[in-house]
Amino acid sequence: MTVQRFASLWRSLTPIGRDAMTGGYLRYAWSDAELACREWFVEEALDRELTIDTDRNGNLWAWWGDPAAGDAVVTGSHFDSVPHGGAFDGPLGIVSALLAVDLLRERGVRPSRPIGIVAFAEEEGSRFGVACLGSRLLTGTISAQRARSLVDSDGVSLARALGEDAASLGAEPDRLARLGAFVELHIEQGRALVELGRPVGVATAIWPHGRWRMDFTGEANHAGTTSMSDRHDPVLTFAYTVLAANKEARLASAYATVGRVNVEPNATNAIAAEVTGWLDARAAEQSTLDSVVEAVRRGEGLDDNGDGTGGVKDLDDYSRCRITSKQDFHDLYVKRFYFGCEADDPINAWAFNRKANPMHARLNAFFSSDIGHFDVPDMTEVVPEAYELVEHGLLDDNDFRDFMFTNAVRFWGEVNPDFFKGTVVEKQAAEVLARPR
Ligand SMILES: [Zn+2]
Repeated sequence: MTVQRFASLWRSLTPIGRDAMTGGYLRYAWSDAELACREWFVEEALDRELTIDTDRNGNLWAWWGDPAAGDAVVTGSHFDSVPHGGAFDGPLGIVSALLAVDLLRERGVRPSRPIGIVAFAEEEGSRFGVACLGSRLLTGTISAQRARSLVDSDGVSLARALGEDAASLGAEPDRLARLGAFVELHIEQGRALVELGRPVGVATAIWPHGRWRMDFTGEANHAGTTSMSDRHDPVLTFAYTVLAANKEARLASAYATVGRVNVEPNATNAIAAEVTGWLDARAAEQSTLDSVVEAVRRGEGLDDNGDGTGGVKDLDDYSRCRITSKQDFHDLYVKRFYFGCEADDPINAWAFNRKANPMHARLNAFFSSDIGHFDVPDMTEVVPEAYELVEHGLLDDNDFRDFMFTNAVRFWGEVNPDFFKGTVVEKQAAEVLARPR
């Protein structure tokens, strides 16, 4: 019943602003599509005998009860979309609110507090670049003057887009003071609810987040005549910065996205003169976010050699290991790494097989566990099992000694020279550690 009713109300809204090709939505703030959504809202609200109320900042309110009574309970969301956004992002919260009012009425509820439904303007910031613009203006976290001067990608200022309405922009503390509670029902845009198998979740906090504009300047030139070493190509610096942002975010369990870029002159056969990119970054803690953004700002991973070509040092994990030759891999890997193995696994023999391994490597395999055991306190049964590798001709006696003793002694003793002090093998272990490798 409720599902059907939702579906029918939903259907009346879904054609507005939908791109027939992609199925995505283009409902930029104050565009024809978004204005049509607002008209839809006004009609639905009037059908329900709600009072329509447009505030000074383009946010649209519908009231059940007199908002002047104060302590209002408000719910709602937004109509505007990101470019080719999903149908539910925003409108779900508004359609659900209208249906919630219907249900309350059918159940004979007489609210003791005014109930409001709100559609906030330019929530996504897709048109004028500032997210939550309508609610920021309402709460005074952005000045009317700054808002009026915001410009969309067609060069239209907010002042021009709003016409005379732009004159009234600004904080509305009185309106805010009348609100007692605000709840927004919003589509989840990740997969957390799916993985939890839950239909709905309650947000407990909003991650600190922000957007940063990044400008890169180089030197425009011809792609065919400028030698690779003579270039000052800001696209390269930009590309490295995107990679660095991704890496820094991953290292910090944060999010970093560069989803928007402008290149000048944006020609296939031209080295660019300028690149502007926009970074969106988010993290659970403000300090984490700050350090990720700071790392990107410092140009971590960028060799600031002034030629705008960037560098790979911090992006290339190998570079910090100072690997310059094939042999460096051998020296870094073979000497430093130890491998715990099962007693009688024939695969152990590969570690000792210099002929088969690249660069004649002999790996530091040592006996450490057996099936179903993390460690083996009683060696009496597993040592003979391990010795089967010798009996089967897979290891020689030297290999076996290294497997069962020498490599284990090095593994522990090179980190802590006193590891074997006071044990029955103290003397033998000391001899192993005294031998050069
Ligand atoms: Zn949204």
